[in-house]
Amino acid sequence: MNDPQLDPGDIAALFDRTRLRMARELRGFSQVQLAREVGSVTAASVSQFENGHTRPASSTLNRIAVALRVPPSFFAAPARPPAQEQINGFFRSLRSTSPRDRQQALAYVHLARELALELEKYVVLPEFNLPRAAADGGRSLQAADIEQAAALVRAHWKVPPGPVENVVRLLEMNGIVVVRFRVSIEKVDAFCVDFPDRPVVALGADKGLRDRSRFDAAHELGHLVLHGIDGQIADKATENQANEFAAAFLMPATDIKHELPDRLDWPAFLRLKAKWHVSIAALLVRAKSLGVMSEHTYAQGWKALSVRGWRKVEPGSLGNPETPVLLQRALELTETTGVSYSSFIQRSGLPEADVRTLLDRDFTERPRVKF
Ligand SMILES: [Zn+2]
Repeated sequence: MNDPQLDPGDIAALFDRTRLRMARELRGFSQVQLAREVGSVTAASVSQFENGHTRPASSTLNRIAVALRVPPSFFAAPARPPAQEQINGFFRSLRSTSPRDRQQALAYVHLARELALELEKYVVLPEFNLPRAAADGGRSLQAADIEQAAALVRAHWKVPPGPVENVVRLLEMNGIVVVRFRVSIEKVDAFCVDFPDRPVVALGADKGLRDRSRFDAAHELGHLVLHGIDGQIADKATENQANEFAAAFLMPATDIKHELPDRLDWPAFLRLKAKWHVSIAALLVRAKSLGVMSEHTYAQGWKALSVRGWRKVEPGSLGNPETPVLLQRALELTETTGVSYSSFIQRSGLPEADVRTLLDRDFTERPRVKF
């Protein structure tokens, strides 16, 4: 725990270089930019602090904390086994994501994990519970294996046949932390990081599309199940596998095959969209991959989606995306144990504004006037 009683000297003595890098990346600063913001250090010293060659004096550390908008105690090593330094995430669209955005998104996800670990000191979170499919990073997976893996997870989680009611809730109930990005890192799509203790799935800031967001969440689940902990930035093959997993997870063949039309019957697709909470596009792909629809009809259908502009905005909006609640509820429960929000924040050493963002607090709660 980052002890609130730590004085500046303690913090400097306990300085953890990986936390400096995490805070810097969270703000999207390069070492040069951070040096400029701090004013009294060079980029070379920032680099030396981060690679462990030198340690910052406590006065320097305080200035860095101000520049990075984190409490100084954030830089103290937490009392737990260290996280692997190089845990990468699966990123969907590599080309549209700059290294800076990617690092910022990763740092945000590291922070979500920190928050979960801090909350776990006060409340018990759902145990992490996920069957894994392959040991070789998914290279040898066939389509049938992926269908089977999706069925296995559904069975393991006791999901009843038919549409999944709430994908995000299902992940959270099984110990996976889910967070949603705000606008600041909008170029980053959904991704996940498979921390050994508790994976984190981050969903994009989103276009307000429930169907797409559910598919994203199921796609990331696919990465966790199929590709596991060694996953790097995803290539085309692993992306396709995760998409196939999502389709199979959300639309099991045995439950949906007889409902899918073999023709381009748009009203029928719209009804299925409302029932299964998946996009028309996903239904179309599923109809082809399950052999209900011919390649030719599928190709015509896909063309029609483009022509009508339905690949950007489909008819039949399903309402707001699913919302993560695990961290928020854990915090509320923490407060019932007599630990106030502000004292939790202080003890955790986490930056308050970011915790608020992670918990969606700023939308649901206004500050209270105290007497
Ligand atoms: Zn992916």
